Amino acid sequence: MIMRTEVPRRLTVLGSTGSIGTNTLDVVRQLGGRDAFEIMALTGNGNIELLAEQARKFGARLAVTADENRYAALKDALSGSGIAVAAGVSGLDEAAGLDADWVMAAIVGTAGLAPTLRAARRGANIALANKECLVSAGELFLDAVSSGGGLLIPVDSEHSAIFQCLDKSQRHALERIILTASGGPFRAYTREQMAGVTLQAARSHPNWSMGLKISVGSASMFNKAFEMIEAKHLFGVRPDQIEVVVHPQSVIHSMVGYVDGSVIAQLGTPDMRTAIGYALSYPNRSALDVERLDFARLARLDFEAPDEARFPALRLARTALERGGLQGAVLNGAEEAAFAAFVAERIGFLDMADVVEAVMDQLAGLGSADEIADVVQADAEARRRARDVVSRMAAA
Ligand code: NAD
Ligand code: MG
Repeated sequence: MIMRTEVPRRLTVLGSTGSIGTNTLDVVRQLGGRDAFEIMALTGNGNIELLAEQARKFGARLAVTADENRYAALKDALSGSGIAVAAGVSGLDEAAGLDADWVMAAIVGTAGLAPTLRAARRGANIALANKECLVSAGELFLDAVSSGGGLLIPVDSEHSAIFQCLDKSQRHALERIILTASGGPFRAYTREQMAGVTLQAARSHPNWSMGLKISVGSASMFNKAFEMIEAKHLFGVRPDQIEVVVHPQSVIHSMVGYVDGSVIAQLGTPDMRTAIGYALSYPNRSALDVERLDFARLARLDFEAPDEARFPALRLARTALERGGLQGAVLNGAEEAAFAAFVAERIGFLDMADVVEAVMDQLAGLGSADEIADVVQADAEARRRARDVVSRMAAA
């Protein structure tokens, strides 16, 4: 692996206007701002005002909106700044292709796959928040990283924790990975209560402040399902080595168990800036102004087994892991479509898992992916079928 640790680090943030993106720029500010980082490109989608403000503040060379219809507005907002402007899929590709040695992959959903792949292939070190890259493209994404020769550092708090707990010289002694899950806002709900919840309730996470998609995914535990698949690819473990435990305080971010019975955990307050700062400083650690854990005030940590009857997403993740191949892409594509239908109030909260399961069963026979085009096709097919299932449900 190539280790590039010069200061200033040249950084591109894909998805700079989102929850991870804005936290990333706050970490950049804390670590020295323009003295420590040269911002190559920032990308957003709808929030042009924020994107332009970020680009000016951090002196980005290029600002990109994924929405072609907003190109003129962005151009306007940055006129006179000397900052280059681009839009659409080609604009994202241009941003990913610029010569930044670090790329924060923080676009939400499969939209993040193409630009992150581009950055990985050209050898950028990838700080990976966009777990969809691994859920959908798995080995092909890892191949792109290794062919480019850059590092892949997880930003998802659980995977950052595991990465920090892993003793790389003792990989043979790794027994299990224990992902913690907060259980989300409906941890103690019955299935009957969950059936009627609103989007507003589903997006209110008890511990973490995050984007809409991942907040709802935390409530349904589809986010944890994705994280199980993410863990398999990142750490090269078998499905039976991946455990999930519900830990409502979100203080232990995840754990690694070894063959001698030892379990190593990483703890912290629920603040994504720790995982972001860890990735952007790797292999060093940098001082961050985040709240410290106060154990006396905390007093206790609770744990419980996840309930797969109320949270079928976990069972679906196991199915996808067992089937392998393109099932991750199917799970992800179907879930994105089911999520969109829930947000549009076309289906209920529990229907999301039913939609995903129906599509996974329809596409259970898909083999493995030889190239990214297979992933894109499986994703599109899963979405199409999910929309069909939704239409039938909505009509019933
Ligand atoms: P968000 O919705 O807050 O932000 C998403 C970003 O992607 C924004 O900059 C938005 O402009 C951009 N975007 C949206 N649609 C796009 C499109 N079609 N094309 C290009 N760009 C688009 O999301 P987030 O919560 O910051 O999550 C980003 C990623 O990080 C997700 O993959 C999520 O699972 C992962 N993640 C987030 C957190 C968290 O605390 N928010 C934690 C762990 C992992
Ligand atoms: Mg996570």
